[in-house]
Amino acid sequence: MSLRVRLTLFYTTVLGVVFILFGVAVYTTTSIVLVRQIDQTLEKTVADVLNLARFDSRGQFGLLYPISFDPRVILQVWDTGQLLLDSTNPNLSDPINPAGIGVAEPEFSDVWGEIGHYRVLSVPVQVETDTIGFIQAGINLAETDTVRQNLLQYLIIMGVIAISVAGFLGWASIQSAISPLATMTETALKITHADDLSMRIPQQGSEGDEIGKLILAFNQTLERLEDLFNTQRRFLTDVGHELRTPLTVIKGNVGVMRKENKGDEELLNTIENEIDRLTRLVENLLLLARAESGKLPLDSRPVDLDTVLLEVFQQVSILATNKKEIQIGEFDQVQIIGDRDRIKQVFLNLTSNAVKYTQAGGKILVSLSKIEGWAKFVVTDNGPGIAPQDLPHIFERFYRAEKSRSRDPKDEKGFGLGLSIAYWIVRNHGGRIEVASTIGEGTTFSVWLPVKPA
Ligand code: ADP
Repeated sequence: MSLRVRLTLFYTTVLGVVFILFGVAVYTTTSIVLVRQIDQTLEKTVADVLNLARFDSRGQFGLLYPISFDPRVILQVWDTGQLLLDSTNPNLSDPINPAGIGVAEPEFSDVWGEIGHYRVLSVPVQVETDTIGFIQAGINLAETDTVRQNLLQYLIIMGVIAISVAGFLGWASIQSAISPLATMTETALKITHADDLSMRIPQQGSEGDEIGKLILAFNQTLERLEDLFNTQRRFLTDVGHELRTPLTVIKGNVGVMRKENKGDEELLNTIENEIDRLTRLVENLLLLARAESGKLPLDSRPVDLDTVLLEVFQQVSILATNKKEIQIGEFDQVQIIGDRDRIKQVFLNLTSNAVKYTQAGGKILVSLSKIEGWAKFVVTDNGPGIAPQDLPHIFERFYRAEKSRSRDPKDEKGFGLGLSIAYWIVRNHGGRIEVASTIGEGTTFSVWLPVKPA
């Protein structure tokens, strides 16, 4: 769930709860006040009746004068078992509240009977300690019920409107508050995709607010990272340049020693092999440093990838000897704009890796196709595969999957630079390189390059 949805839900729920509490308070208070007024009227009516009460000669209970009372009130005066006065209309033969006959103290109750919903006060009439009758006074609550019902409807409608408006306003305001975060994410992703640490997130709004500070901190981190990478790159380039000359000198001297028959031939060969290996390492490092900084000089011109693929195929077939089977699958004619030698280097590196890491009897399939403006070169092998923990690092410099780490001096395996160089050459051509691999089943490398516009 997005932050925006979560915040909106949170605020709407908080407002909803506050509104429900408010609604319950308003509804309950109004109900209490309305019923309290009715109770007071009932109390006053009964008090008036009691003031006018008398006893006849038989000790029976009766009224001195006819009384007048609130027209809303219905009244019954009961002698024990006999109805002495009844203002109900139509007349009820039973007490207004049968349960109220026999109470020891005045008692209010809500009655739902055939006459409707009534608030009834039942009062015992006592002479000394004897109860000689009961008075019941009631008021119809239909009006109060309507008021309460209307209030409830009003509160629900207002609540729904208030929560909807708050939800909408919250949604809109949160959007404007977090939109800089979306821009930040977009820029951060662009930086990752383009491997370009020189990009910065544009400052939005005030630098003093939380988002502004976050952008500032993020940009400072990028700056620091960029500095570190540049220093590292400069170091590699400097070391590379410094090593070039002594290596050339040593190689020259080995040549002189061989010409003058000085030294053991086998030792000289070993020295020369190691010098060649070191020279290759230095050249690769210099190439990588230039490619990473985007300063790789590219001799860009139209390149027929199909012919490049055929050349690579021929070269690698020799390497595969007859121990491994190498085949061409799909084969389209595709032209791109780029540096032919560099692209060939990429194809050669991926295909020779496939041959190198696949066991005898293994199969390697290369293909070239054209898909929606992209040339797709694929090398698939059924070799040992690359472990999932190695896959994300496979294009990093000097990274070699665990199994290939121990190197026998005669081993043809490289320095772990081939894939990084391939990665950067492809990026310098505006393309991308992908890998998919399953341990024990094989590996597929795919290179996507933009085709030459028509
Ligand atoms: P190296 O010079 O070691 O071949 P690369 O950069 O070309 O360096 O490859 C890096 C690592 O990726 C290799 O050491 C190897 O472990 C792994 N690798 C590359 N291609 C394959 C493949 N087709 N099958 C299995 N592992 C591979």
